[in-house]
Amino acid sequence: MTYADPVEIARDAGKHTHHFHGGLRLRHNKRISCRVPVERPPLPDILVVPLLQHAGEAARPLVETGDRVRKGQQIGRCKAGVAVHAPTSGTVETVEDRLMTHASGMTGPCVVIRPDGKEQWVELEPINDVQNTHPDVLIKKLQESGLVGLGGAVFPTHIKARDGRERQIHTLILNGAECEPYISCDEMLMREQPDKIILGARILRHALGAERVIIAIEDRMGAVQEALTYAAECAECKRITVVKITKIYPEGGERQLVQVLTGLEVPYGGRPSDLGLLCQNVATAAAVAEAVTAGKPLIERYVTVTGNGIAQPRNLLALIGTPFSHLVKVCGGYSDNVARLVVGGPMMGYAVSTDATPVVKAVNCILALTQRDITTPQAEMPCIRCGECSRTCPAILLPQQLYKQIKNGWWDTVEEYGLAACIECGCCDFVCPSHIPLVSWFRYGKDELRQRAIAKQAADLARKRFEAREGRLLQKEHERAEKMARRKQMLKDKAKSKDRVNRANGNSADA
Ligand code: SF4
Ligand code: SF4
Repeated sequence: MTYADPVEIARDAGKHTHHFHGGLRLRHNKRISCRVPVERPPLPDILVVPLLQHAGEAARPLVETGDRVRKGQQIGRCKAGVAVHAPTSGTVETVEDRLMTHASGMTGPCVVIRPDGKEQWVELEPINDVQNTHPDVLIKKLQESGLVGLGGAVFPTHIKARDGRERQIHTLILNGAECEPYISCDEMLMREQPDKIILGARILRHALGAERVIIAIEDRMGAVQEALTYAAECAECKRITVVKITKIYPEGGERQLVQVLTGLEVPYGGRPSDLGLLCQNVATAAAVAEAVTAGKPLIERYVTVTGNGIAQPRNLLALIGTPFSHLVKVCGGYSDNVARLVVGGPMMGYAVSTDATPVVKAVNCILALTQRDITTPQAEMPCIRCGECSRTCPAILLPQQLYKQIKNGWWDTVEEYGLAACIECGCCDFVCPSHIPLVSWFRYGKDELRQRAIAKQAADLARKRFEAREGRLLQKEHERAEKMARRKQMLKDKAKSKDRVNRANGNSADA
């Protein structure tokens, strides 16, 4: 193995920082939500817990209307995905389809729980001796605890961990670079619970068999580096390094972060594990610590409730299933001129039509924007080929070309322009002087390709079934013809032998 091997180069991750292509320097607007410590809001009247909160198939409900549930009890389960748990004790009011907290605005199966206020836990099963526990047992525990990536992708943590272990990754990267404006929940978590993040990092390192851990934070995060470094020192863990990186959006993207820390690009269609790296969010690490050492499943998360449309912006430790309206009320309600509610940040978030939608594992921020924050939508004008979009694109794509392909419906060639590599960061949208809603076009393009792939799969399956049926019919026809031929032959043979017998009998009578 030579030093030019990318996996070897990636071993030096974090020693020097590098730059990625494009990106934007944005006003971060985070201070307004970091002024007060994180609090746990009072229990809401109702909790709406969706059975699909991770990337994959929905969980199957394990409870029905009228059932009593305890805090942390499994209420949904699926084979490959992660389990879903009751965020508190109470009674199941109903299991029905409700509006999902998702950009699509779709409905999906939810368990609606009325809390009883007793907060009665199920019996928890912590793992006390982590270092002497087999990694497979730890990974299974992550699945049963409903752990998903809390950075937004909600990919099941146990699948990523198993894959990382099989691929023998050497470095675990914990992503604390919260680059999107307004969102500050990870920063508050790192400030307030550095010990838990370090503990989670150690557990994950053991489960993955990784050599070391890098925690990447932004250089504007002040005391966070000291807090994490001190926590690592107290745990006598020398294999954890905290690295500060510059605050260029979207450096918190998995691929961009890998490039900043290693100078290497994750190959198109590849994953960081191709370089011996695995990325997890810092909040996921804290949830891992809770799941393994306390036996507590993922039933709550830090959520930033912020924006000029909120009276007292802050971070809250919210139960999964809490309606947004409850959290907004805890933050003093809306200001008079609130105009739009966004889930996530202003760059990658999506607007929701109601605040009755619940907090799910993917929700890191509820952003209420006022009329003043929202630029008046401008009419889309023709592309002038200025190239600004490709200059800012962190995925090194040609957004103007992608837009042309999608707009013209050239679906056979659009993938050649790397649509799948678009991380929907919104940089191209932000700089386009023609006000072309490029990201909306790209989301539409991805959706169309997905639908086409599904339709093609269904058509291929139908064709295979048709061909199989044709084959069966032909075979039957062939067998019937053979049978007929055999029968004819048999009759012929019979007639011949009868003839022979008759002739023999006739001859003997003559004699
Ligand atoms: S920034 Fe807008 S106008 Fe300029 S090339 Fe890109 S799509 Fe065209
Ligand atoms: S939204 Fe996609 S195409 Fe546009 S800048 Fe981001 S990665 Fe590039």
